[in-house]
Amino acid sequence: AKLHVLSCDHRLCANCAAEHIVKRRKPVKQSDYVCPVEGCGQQLQQADVKALLSEQEYETYLDSDLKELDSANFRRCPTGCGWGMLLEDALGTSAKKPARNGEVGIDNKPLSMEAIRHRDHYRFRCRRCPNTEFCAMCNTSPYHLGFTCEGYRAHKAKRKCRFCGSEVAGDSQLILKEDSKGNKKALHKVLHARCVDYIPKGASIQALLDLVQRTDELGSLCKQEECVKRAAEACTRVMECGHLCLGTRGESVCLGCLQCGVAEGQGADEFCNICWVAELREAPCVKLKCKHIFHKHCVEKQVKSKWVGARVTFGFLECPLCKQHMEAEAIQDITEEG
Ligand SMILES: [Zn+2]
Ligand SMILES: [Zn+2]
Ligand SMILES: [Zn+2]
Ligand SMILES: [Zn+2]
Ligand SMILES: [Zn+2]
Ligand SMILES: [Zn+2]
Ligand SMILES: [Zn+2]
Ligand SMILES: [Zn+2]
Repeated sequence: AKLHVLSCDHRLCANCAAEHIVKRRKPVKQSDYVCPVEGCGQQLQQADVKALLSEQEYETYLDSDLKELDSANFRRCPTGCGWGMLLEDALGTSAKKPARNGEVGIDNKPLSMEAIRHRDHYRFRCRRCPNTEFCAMCNTSPYHLGFTCEGYRAHKAKRKCRFCGSEVAGDSQLILKEDSKGNKKALHKVLHARCVDYIPKGASIQALLDLVQRTDELGSLCKQEECVKRAAEACTRVMECGHLCLGTRGESVCLGCLQCGVAEGQGADEFCNICWVAELREAPCVKLKCKHIFHKHCVEKQVKSKWVGARVTFGFLECPLCKQHMEAEAIQDITEEG
């Protein structure tokens, strides 16, 4: 049988050693994995454990006591399922696949060579929760396809259109220039451009800066006609939590915060149940009398064109979720016509 030499210089039959280490001693933490020779008991090195034990036993070892592991060299599944691996093992086993035809990153752009290399090295799938992909380098989940970790951080920091998510240049009148932070007039100008209609009289510079910060999303708007139109229809109020109202401009009662999820359980990143192609955050929304929330333009379209969506019903005036008659402050005139 194969001989294995441990760091304590004990030579062991690999099969017997494995048997002694795992079956006889029943180790629970990593310091329990020791040389099985009577009177030695020296703790095994990771490489020895890996060489001697089965893959499953090795995983048990890795899981057994993470505090003993050099955390800079260990990666855990970000869901907290408990699965983890040594980075060096991970790098050895990652599958190298060429870019699929038309494969694009999260920014919808084709993968660069650098991005392909990064993907091949650092994109991992948890073995316990196979739908979880993550970056073994920065632990971001899902994996930031199309970017290196560094590039992804820069991408996240960039301004993106609040409706379509495309990157926005920072030169519009909606955006405060760095050197205008102490200038009351400039602050007012930016806030007016953002249609913030509740600037308190005699507000201090700090109060104005706070408002600019809270409405920063309002300033992130691309120049596409569709997005500009949506911005003009969007509510400009900021909730107490500091998030933007995603409702319709001029509504007398706001939706409740869709980002904190307090608006009747419907969240900003859930699909609109009428169009099914866009998240609620992507256009101004209305809350019907039944309290369900949809894109305003989708409700209007459904009412106007008697379009009934994926399911065939004759209920074009019914809420697609609860079948109650569609009524809302912002679309009253339309439902009455209909
Ligand atoms: Zn020994
Ligand atoms: Zn997992
Ligand atoms: Zn990363
Ligand atoms: Zn846009
Ligand atoms: Zn509102
Ligand atoms: Zn909120
Ligand atoms: Zn919609
Ligand atoms: Zn409803």
